Amino acid sequence: MKLAPSPKLTNVQASRMDADSVGLGNRALLDKVDKLRELGISSQIPLPQIVAAGEQSAGKSSLLESLTGISFPRSVSLCTRFATEIICRREKEISIVVTIQPASGSSDDHAKSVREFRRTVSSFTGEEFADVFKEATKVMGIKTDPTSDSSAPTFTRDVLRIEKNGPSEEHLTLIDVPGIFENESPGLTTKHDIELVKNLVKEYIKDTRTIILAVAPCNTDIATQTIIRFAAEVDPKGKRTLGVLTKPDLAVETATKNAAAELVRGRRNDNLGYCVVRNRGADDHSVTIDMDARNAEESAFFSQEPWSKLDKSRLGIPALRARLRELLMDRTKSEFPSVKREVAATLKEAKEQLQALGDSRAETDEQRAYLGHIAIRFADLVKFGLDAYYNGDEVFLKSKNLRLITRMRDLNDAFAETFYWMGHQIEFESDTKPTLSDQEDEEDGSVSVRREDLYDSPLSIPIELEEDLDGILIEPFDCPDPQNGSLLNRIQVMYKENRGYELGTFGSSMIPAAFRLQATKWEKMALAHVSNAILVVHHFINAMIAEACPDETVRYALWQAILEELGKRYQRAMDHVRFLLDVELNGKSVTCVPNFETALSSAEGKRMMDRLKPHAVEICEQTQKFSGISKGEYVRIEDVAELNGETRQNEVDPVCEKIHDVTKAYYEVARARFVDGICVYAVDHFLLSSKDSPLRVFGPDYVLSMTAEQLEMIAAEDAATRSTRLRLKERIKLLEQAVKILRA
Ligand code: GDP
Ligand code: MG
Repeated sequence: MKLAPSPKLTNVQASRMDADSVGLGNRALLDKVDKLRELGISSQIPLPQIVAAGEQSAGKSSLLESLTGISFPRSVSLCTRFATEIICRREKEISIVVTIQPASGSSDDHAKSVREFRRTVSSFTGEEFADVFKEATKVMGIKTDPTSDSSAPTFTRDVLRIEKNGPSEEHLTLIDVPGIFENESPGLTTKHDIELVKNLVKEYIKDTRTIILAVAPCNTDIATQTIIRFAAEVDPKGKRTLGVLTKPDLAVETATKNAAAELVRGRRNDNLGYCVVRNRGADDHSVTIDMDARNAEESAFFSQEPWSKLDKSRLGIPALRARLRELLMDRTKSEFPSVKREVAATLKEAKEQLQALGDSRAETDEQRAYLGHIAIRFADLVKFGLDAYYNGDEVFLKSKNLRLITRMRDLNDAFAETFYWMGHQIEFESDTKPTLSDQEDEEDGSVSVRREDLYDSPLSIPIELEEDLDGILIEPFDCPDPQNGSLLNRIQVMYKENRGYELGTFGSSMIPAAFRLQATKWEKMALAHVSNAILVVHHFINAMIAEACPDETVRYALWQAILEELGKRYQRAMDHVRFLLDVELNGKSVTCVPNFETALSSAEGKRMMDRLKPHAVEICEQTQKFSGISKGEYVRIEDVAELNGETRQNEVDPVCEKIHDVTKAYYEVARARFVDGICVYAVDHFLLSSKDSPLRVFGPDYVLSMTAEQLEMIAAEDAATRSTRLRLKERIKLLEQAVKILRA
């Protein structure tokens, strides 16, 4: 074969069958398939294609060179280490583009570097193509030098793609796969490689849309060729397997030649028959191939016996090319409907997968929208919880613990009740002692106190998230019963210890002192109660966020983001309790409530009555009728004066009684005011209803005011989801384009 004088592109046109002979409609069909291939869809949906397979050195690469005019640099192509896809396309512009398609399942790094590889060469002549080829081999990371002891693999599943465009090109896609081999060669190929190549070949030929070119040299026994066995496995009826015999020029013995000729002549059931081609031999070192010269040489060769006696359609490259086009056309026609179906099904599946991933959260806007939906749902749930509209959402039917306002009422009622019976330190004088049990609790300090022990009613306080609120809540408090023994006795002691020169009256510090004594437990009770209320609210917010935000990662980040602000708002409620305590315990004893005066007078009246009672006489009916005064008991005025003088010696000092009565009347007013203050301000206002309540930390406003960084921190997808989404989107785009092409 002679060297081409000037580099020119292949001249396949001369030997090509007229394109029109396949018919216009068929042409369009082939075009569609080619366009699909161009989209790169064949990695997902197999397209009709031609694969040349056979043993090492069978002549596969040489065959493809003869068919397409692409000659692989001989030094490198010692043996093929990866599949090469050669795509010939008829285009106005001449171009040769070399790219690499990463093996499916390659690492991200590898896939990226491999995808970046793209070289445009002007022709297949000279060092240019050889260099590109070497570069590609390097990018794929395979070992080319058997003497180097690198751990790089010898074979790869990456695919080298050579697109050859030009006005005289034929639409033809051919794939060259590494040759099958049986023996390992030290330093270069291992047993593992042998299996790898076999599997690779099997994968390439298994699809029903693939036409198998089973390549075998004339000078071997066809029965021993592994590829014949492989092809029979995947295509038992031989409907898509074409035998190609190479190296007829090397078959020197007549018997060998005749055996080959017999194969070609024979009618076979297990494949589409055999044909013979003559490629250039090992001694031909020209860097390019002159197709016309090649064809002429081949044709001259086949004019000799025994080849000249054979059917011309089975001899030589031009005939084979025509045959291939026919086969490809048939395959394409018969497979087209199923390709269409498969594209539609794959597209549907990809869309479903994308849908299942939920809304994309790559961009700030998407992240804001995503969190916005969560915030709206959360705000709705909060509203239902506050309005006791429990039919508003399933979640309230599932868990009664989440019925916020109802729980708070129960809690406040229990607090008020407990406060009424047990809030004071010592029983007031006139109280009938309530029968309060549980006296043992107090004595046994080792029993750990639960938060609900504060109340007398059965309640439960959720404590799972207690740790979030470190430094805000106070320790649980188990309210002890009021001490037995009258406050009056204590007041007498206090009075004696504190009195000055006042006569018939008492110092201004007496009432506050007595009141403070009675209010000893207020601080712990109130703070423990509001701590409990905070726990209920905190638990509610946490549960509602969980309900509104199903994505665990986002939920965690969101929770971390709002926790600090929640803490600040809980703290406000606690601060308000301390404010109320300060007012009640350290301020002046002030009240404008009319109840106070009424209570005080009635206490004094009662005391007077008790004292006069022994001196009272019942007026008889006659006297009553006679004097006209009403029925009842009467005391003589003289007795009243006398009694008052007499009691001073042995009974309680009336000043102490007065102190007691004022303290009691004031305590009752203050208690009502304080309990109300805790429930109305600390709990309801600060924890629930105010527009700055913890329930309103998170919501649509919060999301609207978030910066891009905050959104990224909270709502961004994890890397895996993001890349899955990207891949799916790419696939959908591709498949949609495919659908368009198929419809056109
Ligand atoms: P592959 O391993 O199947 O790709 O085989 P190659 O195409 O690399 O061919 C192996 C050797 O056989 C090369 O030196 C080719 O030049 C030579 N060869 C291939 N086909 C023919 C042919 O038809 N005639 C002759 N004489 N040599 C051939
Ligand atoms: Mg090869």
